[in-house]
Amino acid sequence: MLYPRLCGGCRRDLYTGENYVCTHCLLEMPFTHYHQMPDNPLERMFRGRIPVYGVTSLLFFNRGGIARQLLHRVKYFGDTQTAVAMGRLLGVALRDSPFSECGAVVPVPLHPSRQRTRGFNQSSLIAQGVHEVMGIPFHDDWLQRVEATESQTRKSREARWANVATAFSVGASVSGCAGRVLLIDDVLTTGATLEAAARVLIAAGAGVMLATLACSNR
Ligand SMILES: [Zn+2]
Repeated sequence: MLYPRLCGGCRRDLYTGENYVCTHCLLEMPFTHYHQMPDNPLERMFRGRIPVYGVTSLLFFNRGGIARQLLHRVKYFGDTQTAVAMGRLLGVALRDSPFSECGAVVPVPLHPSRQRTRGFNQSSLIAQGVHEVMGIPFHDDWLQRVEATESQTRKSREARWANVATAFSVGASVSGCAGRVLLIDDVLTTGATLEAAARVLIAAGAGVMLATLACSNR
């Protein structure tokens, strides 16, 4: 599918050499740089909840900000190429960091019924971009969503956890996994979804690192 050559952030025409976002928006992107920051606020968020080797997010998810606009384009306009492009940007950031030591890139899955309705899983597209740049094998069958959960957006942290706690299981192919897994999701808010997904990978013997495209600014 072809999309007009417009910036995914400000919708201005793109120049030759610009892809998906214009140079101005790229420079204005609210990068967290958390992948270079041990003990960053996201790692502290997971401390005491699950043992993970690292947590990062590429961008702050500000109201009206570019991360929000780009993910909105993916979700509601089906702009899958932008999701892959944003994943590549995340991969470039993580290439020279401890996250590059992972042996597998695994997206947080959607329930099959939700994926059928939407036609794609944006976390999977982001993970494909990460895989392309970092050269780490991509496995979208290692995690399965076995329960269709309600939307998390209006729920409290406790309610979010109750909603997703038993939503995931590992696929049959993960049984020999002993290395580190880079678990990818689109947005990190309370961490309930990532925690539930990471728990089943850890129970299967994997060491887990978490990376998302955006995180809520706190
Ligand atoms: Zn722009």
